[in-house]
Amino acid sequence: MNNKFWLVFFITFIMTACGGGGGGSSYSGSSNNSSSGSSNSTLTNLNSANACKKAWYTTMPTASSSNTVFNNYSFFWQATSFENMPVCENYYELTGPILSVGGVSWKTYINELVEYSKNTLGQIVPVNIFILGAAATSSPYDKIISSDVLTVERTSYNTDFATVQAPLSDYSNAVTNYDGFPLESAGGGYSHEAAPNGADIQLPQGLVWNKKNSSGNSDFASDAERIQQSFKVIAHEYFHVYQNSLKFYNEASKTISLPKAWFSNPSLLDPSSASTPAYFPWYIEEGGAEFGGIVLSAKYANTKTGITTNPVQQFEDHFGQAFDYFAGDAGRSLADFNLTGNIGYSAGASALLYLWSVDERNFNAAMSKYYTSWQEAELARSGNGWQDAFEDVFWKNGTEYYTLSEFVTEFNTWIRSDTKSNLWNSIAKTSNEIIHADIIPTTVNTPNSTSKTIDVQAAAKVVGAGTGNRYFIDGVQQKTLVVKAGQTYKFSYPSAHPFKFSTTSNGTHAGGNEYTSGVTVGTNEITITMPNSSSVTTLYYYCSAHSGMGGTILIKDQTASSGGGGLGGGGLGGGGGSGY
Ligand SMILES: [Zn+2]
Repeated sequence: MNNKFWLVFFITFIMTACGGGGGGSSYSGSSNNSSSGSSNSTLTNLNSANACKKAWYTTMPTASSSNTVFNNYSFFWQATSFENMPVCENYYELTGPILSVGGVSWKTYINELVEYSKNTLGQIVPVNIFILGAAATSSPYDKIISSDVLTVERTSYNTDFATVQAPLSDYSNAVTNYDGFPLESAGGGYSHEAAPNGADIQLPQGLVWNKKNSSGNSDFASDAERIQQSFKVIAHEYFHVYQNSLKFYNEASKTISLPKAWFSNPSLLDPSSASTPAYFPWYIEEGGAEFGGIVLSAKYANTKTGITTNPVQQFEDHFGQAFDYFAGDAGRSLADFNLTGNIGYSAGASALLYLWSVDERNFNAAMSKYYTSWQEAELARSGNGWQDAFEDVFWKNGTEYYTLSEFVTEFNTWIRSDTKSNLWNSIAKTSNEIIHADIIPTTVNTPNSTSKTIDVQAAAKVVGAGTGNRYFIDGVQQKTLVVKAGQTYKFSYPSAHPFKFSTTSNGTHAGGNEYTSGVTVGTNEITITMPNSSSVTTLYYYCSAHSGMGGTILIKDQTASSGGGGLGGGGLGGGGGSGY
């Protein structure tokens, strides 16, 4: 076994956190790609069809530009639209089929939950998901043991995984020698070493929905618990891909920007030796994914009849563990950015929930803004992006942001200041508050009309002050949509609540006008081609019959500042982001 390769994969797994194993194969997703980037002119696109389990690159391409901290890349697949960005579900089930529970296949759940997550958070990199059926037949323990897996299945998984996740500095050697077994957890992430070939998620069913305890019995008391826990794990791993890809995304130049120092000094990424976290504190890497996983899985479950999760209980369980941890030793502190084991998940999820209770805006900071702010913060002060991004996005009160040290001191004091139940009650959110919390990503999260008709429903309001009907999209009350300029979107709506657009929030009910440019109205359907202009970056959807039902549409990626425009490269319209 090649030592260098193992070191790199160790780092990858540290970054991606939770890891996985299993056999067979099929996939969904893929698409067209007729692009080329100037930086790729010397390399051939090895995967121009965006096929699954296939590398786009076997060597690191030349950066299109660079600055003191980052090399900026335009990978071949970046020309792929949001709708066609691959989400590959690769199944391996020679030694154990993927089970069905409650009459519904886990393949359906995985497919829908990942799609739901994509349409909620957005997705800027291709993802290969490795879904493994292998059962731990020779051992009662809840791990996938290498000897349990047929050689052919093991080889197939190892080859496919290494093909898209091997570090490009040592590609062929890594592909030849990789052995991912034994797998000890589910996993997901996007590593700098394999960045040109996209992200990965690993879901071994023997460690997720078919998890066994040490007696060989199901780890779950009921199917409801199995579904709740497993949904969370799937969404948690998707969130790892999301948070780790966003931190590399330069929104101004639309490049994937990789820190030079991580390649020249890999020890920066070793949590046992680093004096500061290379990217996020462990309690944000894992606590953030746990926070996001609970929220996303609850939102998705809410769209399914007969299936619910209990996100309040999931958060309360984490808070209980965090409370006990901090109560157990006065020296324990959130200043320990490498909080290891389960406490990283629990302390982090609790800290983010606490922040949400301090200021409503901190929900979106936890779901999106912290990660999107990392890139600019890291450029401004290399090695401190993890801290400065925190201080750029989390509100202390209505007008000021926390410093990290202020927050750490406040949280350490707070979690020891009262009984467990009193403290829990002071930060708890209701199930509806969690399900309907508005996630506003900075990248596109809405499929266009060629891929989906967006189903808009009307129902009684469930969160916030006031009463009356509200629009629900993807099960979320008055969901904010993030769309792409110039693209066409189609909505279906109930006939009693005509769905309209305006540049004024609440439209004609607030003195605004109906926006009709590029709009076609059908029978209970409406189609709109989003304006491509730096002067219209936000539209609002509203009901022409009733006030207060609607929400916001954020329009990204303007390519024209006045009139038409070409693709890519040049003048960005009204996009945010300063930097460089
Ligand atoms: Zn994780």
